[in-house]
Amino acid sequence: MTNTLYDSLFARHEGNKAPFLQLDDGKVVSYDAFLKRAAQIAHVLQNSEVSPGDRIVVQAPKLADTIALYAASVQAGAVYLPINTAYTMAELDYFISDAQPAMIICDSNDEAEIKKLAAQSGAKLLTLGGDSPSLSVEADAQPCVFETVDRAPDDLAALLYTSGTTGRSKGAMLSQRNLLSNAQALVELWAITSADRLIHALPVFHTHGLFVAMNTSLLAGAKVRLMKKFDIGMILEELPHSTLLMGVPTFYTRLLADDGFTKEVTESMRLFISGSAPLLAETHLAFETRTGHRILERYGMTETNMNTSNPYDGERRAGTVGLALPGTEVIVTNPETGEPLPRGEVGMIEVRGPNVFQGYWQMPDKTAEELRENGFFITGDLGQCSEDGYLSIVGRSKDLIITGGYNVYPKEIEDVLNDIDGILESAVFGIPDTEFGEAIIATLVAEPSAQLDIKQITETIRDKLSRFKHPRRYEIVPDLPRNTMGKVQKNVLREQYAQKEL
Ligand code: ATP
Ligand code: MG
Repeated sequence: MTNTLYDSLFARHEGNKAPFLQLDDGKVVSYDAFLKRAAQIAHVLQNSEVSPGDRIVVQAPKLADTIALYAASVQAGAVYLPINTAYTMAELDYFISDAQPAMIICDSNDEAEIKKLAAQSGAKLLTLGGDSPSLSVEADAQPCVFETVDRAPDDLAALLYTSGTTGRSKGAMLSQRNLLSNAQALVELWAITSADRLIHALPVFHTHGLFVAMNTSLLAGAKVRLMKKFDIGMILEELPHSTLLMGVPTFYTRLLADDGFTKEVTESMRLFISGSAPLLAETHLAFETRTGHRILERYGMTETNMNTSNPYDGERRAGTVGLALPGTEVIVTNPETGEPLPRGEVGMIEVRGPNVFQGYWQMPDKTAEELRENGFFITGDLGQCSEDGYLSIVGRSKDLIITGGYNVYPKEIEDVLNDIDGILESAVFGIPDTEFGEAIIATLVAEPSAQLDIKQITETIRDKLSRFKHPRRYEIVPDLPRNTMGKVQKNVLREQYAQKEL
C-alpha cells in the first residue's frame, strides 16, 4: 500500500535541497528541510493519538509550519480541515461541533478563548505562531523521519468548508484522488516547473491558496514566496524576481490602481492567474494595456477544485472562464429538467470528473440533491458555453431574480452599469415584492471623486435593457459587502434592503 498524495506531492522531494518556501523575514526553507519538519509534526499528531481519518481543525496564521502541518496531516493519514482566520468563536463552534476533530490547532493568541471549545469537544489543542507555540515546540523534539501512513486514493485528505457566500458553509469531503488529479491537470495546463517562482499572497485556508497554489507548486517543485498577506509594496518588490501570481480579482484591480505597477516590473513574469470571483473584462483589458500580459482566468469551487481554465497557449478570452480541464466534463443543463442545453443557452453548470468531491460532510440529503448518481455535480452556478467550448458564468442560481414571471440575470444589468462612466462596480439583486414576486435593486459604487447622476443612469439603462430588467431603485454605497475571498455577498444585500421601505 502507499499514500499516493503524500508520495506525489511531498515524498518526491526527499533530499531536494532546492528552495521551497521564501518567507517575509527572508528565511528560506528548502524542500528537504520542509519534509523533515513535516515528519516532526506528523510525530506530534501520532503521539496525540490522531488516527487515520481523524479530522484536524486548523485556524492558524500563514507560517511555514502551517504548510508543514498540512503535509504532516497527509503523511499521518489525517483529514486536514483549515478554517478561515477571520471566523469568530461562534462560527468556530459550529465547525468544531460539525466536524468533531481529534485535534485543534490555533493561533497562540486565540488559545485562551478556544480552550473552552476544545474541552467541550474533547479535542486536543495545540498552537502555532507567537513566541513558544506548543505544536512547534513539541515538533522540535521529534525525529525528522516518519513512516508514512497508508491511504487509498479514495480516502479523505481534506474536509474543506465552502466560503458561505450563499448561506451556511458546508463541509466538502475531498479525497486524495480529488486533490492530486486536479494538481496534475493544472501543472500540465499552466506549464508549471521547478523554474517557477510563485508569489503567494492568498490565504491558506481556502481551495485557491491551499490546493491550487500549494499543490501545483509542490508537484512541480517550484519556489513559493509565501507572503503573510497581500501587500502592494511587497508585491511590487517581488514581481521582478518572480514568474507566477495567483490572485483574486481585487489583487488585479488594486495593482492597476497603483502607479508603481508598470510593464517593467512584470518583465520576468510568465503568468497571472485569476479566480474565486468574476474578473471584469474591463480589468482584463486594462491589465493587458498596462503590462502586455493577458490574465488567465479559471473557475472552480471548494467542492470540485478547478473545473475550467483559459488556455495557456491558446486564446485567453476576457469575460470567460475558458475550457473544461482535461479529464473534467462541464455541461450546461436546464435547471428544471436536468437535460443538457444546446450551446449558447444559459443554464445550470454541472461538472463531472476525478476532481469532484465525495459529498457534503454529514449532509446526505444535500449531497443527494446536488450530486447526481451519474457523477455530475450541480454547481449552483449559471452559465453558457460558446460554440468553441468557452464557458461564461452568468451568476449563481440563488441570485437569479424572478420578477413578474421573467428570469433576470443580475450580471447582464451589472455589465451595463459597470460600463457607465463614473461607476466603479455594482451589485444587482432581488428583494421580495408583493406585486412582482421580486423587485430589482442596484447598488452602485462610484469611482473616486465621481458624482453619479441617477437620472442619467436610469436613462442609459432604459436605452439598453428591456423594461422588466430595469432596477426599481438605485443605491449609491461606499463599497459592496465582500467575504474574505473577495466575493460579493448578495444575501447580505438582500437582507439589508428587504428591510428597508421601497
Ligand atoms: P457557498 O457555497 O458556501 O455559498 P462559495 O460558493 O462562495 O460559498 P467557494 O467554493 O469558495 O464558496 O466558491 C466557489 C464559487 O466561486 C463558485 O461556485 C463560483 O460562483 C465562484 N467563482 C469561482 N471562480 C470564479 C470565476 N472565475 N468567475 C466567477 N465566479 C467564480
Ligand atoms: Mg458554493
